[in-house]
Amino acid sequence: MTEPVLIIGGGIAGLALARALHRHGIAYTLYERREQAADAGLAVNLPGNAITALGRLGLGDEIAAAGHPVLRREYRTGRGRLLFQVDEREFWGAEAQPRCVRRTDLHRILRDGLPDGTVHEGAGVTAVRQDPGAAEIDLADGSTVRGSLVVGADGVRSTVRRAAFGDDGVRAALLSGASFRFMAPNPGVDCWAVWAGTYGTYLLIPVSPAEVYGFACATRGGPAEPDPAWLTETFAGFPEPVRQTVEAATADPAQLYHSPIEEVRVPRWAHGRAVLIGDAAHATAPVWAQGAALALEDAEVLAGLLAAGADAPAAAAEYERVRRPRVTHVQTQTDRFSRTAAVPGWVRAITAPLGGRASYRAAYGPLREWPAR
Ligand SMILES: Cc1cc2nc3c(=O)[nH]c(=O)nc-3n(C[C@H](O)[C@H](O)[C@H](O)COP(=O)(O)OP(=O)(O)OC[C@H]3O[C@@H](n4cnc5c(N)ncnc54)[C@H](O)[C@@H]3O)c2cc1C
Repeated sequence: MTEPVLIIGGGIAGLALARALHRHGIAYTLYERREQAADAGLAVNLPGNAITALGRLGLGDEIAAAGHPVLRREYRTGRGRLLFQVDEREFWGAEAQPRCVRRTDLHRILRDGLPDGTVHEGAGVTAVRQDPGAAEIDLADGSTVRGSLVVGADGVRSTVRRAAFGDDGVRAALLSGASFRFMAPNPGVDCWAVWAGTYGTYLLIPVSPAEVYGFACATRGGPAEPDPAWLTETFAGFPEPVRQTVEAATADPAQLYHSPIEEVRVPRWAHGRAVLIGDAAHATAPVWAQGAALALEDAEVLAGLLAAGADAPAAAAEYERVRRPRVTHVQTQTDRFSRTAAVPGWVRAITAPLGGRASYRAAYGPLREWPAR
């Protein structure tokens, strides 16, 4: 393959693909519209399959150093009663120990060591074309670049998806219309801990003994406006760690991230010399924290197919064939959980202790296997 792979988007998916191609000695160029990564201060939860994918990218030691181990999950009612818990270390094994990591650290790990001149920041892609011999992109500065394959790693509002597939495919998540995310001093939480009440769900994950990453959403609909008062009112009757972190998070509303939760469901990810990976292909509500994990797996699988010698259109088509069942599994499990999250609290209090662990196993069990298909 003489012409480079053109990667559009320098988020987790794009950087992971750059890294995987670099390891295989395949030429690529990455174009990222932003001057620097967004959401830089916040964190991401990496279940075991994300850790496995990072290991395959040669970053096992780096993620072990940067990510805080998530040893256990606890599911509680809004009043604090423990419904069930899961030993994550036992479930995934020591090699795939789930971790919570700051997004800046994950980006740094993925980016470190990529050769100079292969990642262009402040370089937005405005148009995508292809002919039987090559793919072509236009950049915002008016220049045009040709490559063997154009990879849309450009997130939920993908330019590549619209240009090459003519598909929007964005929908509001069933889970909730919007969410708040924030960082706060750790109130003494030592594991992944969620409290689910009638109107809101609240998750805390330590990124260190001193700091937690927080996520809150409404059980139905979600707050339409980024009003911090919604957090204070919705979680007023919740246990101390929740109230303490709500107080810390709302003290400086500028540090609160409020965003819609959107999903992408499209019938095709591969079309000739254009292919979609990560959120551009299949953004999914963060019910099972699979967005980053699937993006990392996509990158590793696509790079492996290109390295095995398939020409670009064949590798793209095979990537879609291989990855569809796994992504469909995650989407199905996400929809299933989202529907049960909307049931009244008293119903959940009865069903969760019986079905909670089974639901965790059903969602994550198949994801322990590699190849990621
Ligand atoms: C509230 C919330 C919480 C989440 N929590 C978790 C979690 O705990 N665990 C988890 O695994 N996942 C989580 N996710 C999902 C996860 O963040 C995403 O799945 C993941 O970041 C997707 O990475 P990506 O690289 O595909 O897309 P993005 O991160 O969106 O990156 C796309 C990049 O493309 C760039 N771009 C866009 N258009 C262009 C263009 N025209 N030209 C050039 N560049 C362009 C953008 O600037 C951006 O940098 C969460 C998502 C949300 C909304």
